[in-house]
Amino acid sequence: METSAPDVVNSSSADLAAEAEAGRTEVASLAERVSRLQSSEEDGAPRISRYEDTFADFSPDDIRVAAEAKRFFECHEGDRDFRAAVEAGGKFTDQQRRMLKDIGVTFEPEAMELLWLQPDLIERFPSLVIEHVSFEDVPSDLLAALAPYRELRIWLKWRHRMDRAVMLNKFKLSARRTLSPEYTAWRLRRVAAVRNELGWFGWSLDHPCHAVEMAVGCSVQCYFCAFDAGKLQTVFDLSRPENRELVRAVATGMIRVLGWPAGHGMLYWSTEPHDNPHYVKLLGLWEESTGAMLCTATARAGVDWVRELIDYYSTGPVPWPRISVLSRGMLRRLHAAFSPMELRDTQMLMQQKDVKAHRTVEAPPTEEVPGEGERIKVRARWRGAGHKVPGGREKMLQQLVGADDLRNVDFENRPEGFEPPQGSIACISGTLVNMVNRTVKLISPCYTTRQYPYGYRVFDEATFDDGPEGFEAALKRIIGRSMVVRPYPEMPMRWRDDLKVVSHPDGVTLLSPTTQRDFRRGELHVRTAELIGRGDLTYEQVFDALSDNPRIGPMVALSILDALFRKGLLCELAITRDYRARREAQDASLREPVVAAAAAA
Ligand code: SF4
Repeated sequence: METSAPDVVNSSSADLAAEAEAGRTEVASLAERVSRLQSSEEDGAPRISRYEDTFADFSPDDIRVAAEAKRFFECHEGDRDFRAAVEAGGKFTDQQRRMLKDIGVTFEPEAMELLWLQPDLIERFPSLVIEHVSFEDVPSDLLAALAPYRELRIWLKWRHRMDRAVMLNKFKLSARRTLSPEYTAWRLRRVAAVRNELGWFGWSLDHPCHAVEMAVGCSVQCYFCAFDAGKLQTVFDLSRPENRELVRAVATGMIRVLGWPAGHGMLYWSTEPHDNPHYVKLLGLWEESTGAMLCTATARAGVDWVRELIDYYSTGPVPWPRISVLSRGMLRRLHAAFSPMELRDTQMLMQQKDVKAHRTVEAPPTEEVPGEGERIKVRARWRGAGHKVPGGREKMLQQLVGADDLRNVDFENRPEGFEPPQGSIACISGTLVNMVNRTVKLISPCYTTRQYPYGYRVFDEATFDDGPEGFEAALKRIIGRSMVVRPYPEMPMRWRDDLKVVSHPDGVTLLSPTTQRDFRRGELHVRTAELIGRGDLTYEQVFDALSDNPRIGPMVALSILDALFRKGLLCELAITRDYRARREAQDASLREPVVAAAAAA
């Protein structure tokens, strides 16, 4: 029998898979909507491929206004007294009005008065990004209401353009192929799994391919650190020529093996970029090797440091750095030190406790999106998530006790306003490299639990030496032993470990922490779920049992098993463990060098 899924699923089996997989009834899947969005962008509508293009038809004065409006909204989000004045109907004190002038906002707050006169109207804008190609296409009642407010109109137009460009870019990057067919297949599967497991957060990611830590530990020690970063121990020293060579070797190794993913990542993770005194040089070195200007997020806001970062990114320009604003005082210092135009491209991520409370209470509305048999909620992302991730630090992990997710509630009659926590802050499906320890891990986001306290699963780990090809060799080992392209006969078959399986007479419902997925097409789904639910069968055994059933047959069996695999609903950890053992037994060069030496001794 043929047990491997074909490289390219032909149209008839794709149709069967679609039929068999979920019994979906929605007219448009999210994938179809995305493709419509992309093609509409090709039908003469403005194409935004670079950040710079978002300002394409803005006059210099419009750009100045947009930068000032950005500052106004930063005050609204990050300054509780300012926010209270807005919520009280625009009752700003003289001091607040002076403060706005002092930090470079030249218009009067009343230029934004729709914020308190018609808050519902303003909150409609984020969701319009999905359906309306350009700002000018939004419903006429909104445009009419905005007509007298030039500053607010400019701001909303620019945000619409930015948010739409970011959204399309995310969909594009999530589906893009790489030089490595193994990594492409693995990443596409992980993207599907992350979307299913993390819901709106999974859909909001562009699924970066790598993170490279340039230190061990972090000097900031935020109370909420979802990675539970330890105290700063060591910093990767770029003043040493051999270390500069090692950075080049890692960057070029990624390019040779994966291609463009070398330019889709970050040079920090559970670390603070500012801790490395050569950090901006590192960005330059990476750019020299890959052509990519990588994003930086920092929780340090010293004037020299921020100036160094904005000087670097303004040569793009690109919409970075991102600064985690830990207090209102920090926000005020930044506003005092830099003009609105100087921080036009800098993203301010408000992390104050009162901002969290504000977001939780006033989180913008969500939109139900029909997606491939799943009911998911895509949160409008303008003002950020309402919930923090209860992960990483022990204090945060304790909040997991009693935190409800979809698996713990009556999913068919969800409580009013029910929404699971964000689940993770991890974003990469690819390699997590530490330059100090010379380690590389293969990771992908998951829902934070005691078992996965940092919100990601680790699928493999390797070490590399300082030689020019040490990193490349480690990456190839991981790819060769841990990235399964298609199902194989001995592949273990069990559900992904976060899934709760609810049985029905006509099939099952798979519940992830955030997403409900129904498989209720009678015998095919009942039987498939039973077989996978046993947890001790291989792909070949499940395939044989299904294909021997006269009401199912081999083509439908092949289709549904292929679909379950590609959608990341099977346990990738179990598959990886099994596959690695088999691959290492076949090819000793795939073993870690230390293991290989011990085996030979
Ligand atoms: S959140 Fe970032 S800056 Fe804060 S402790 Fe964790 S790694 Fe460091």
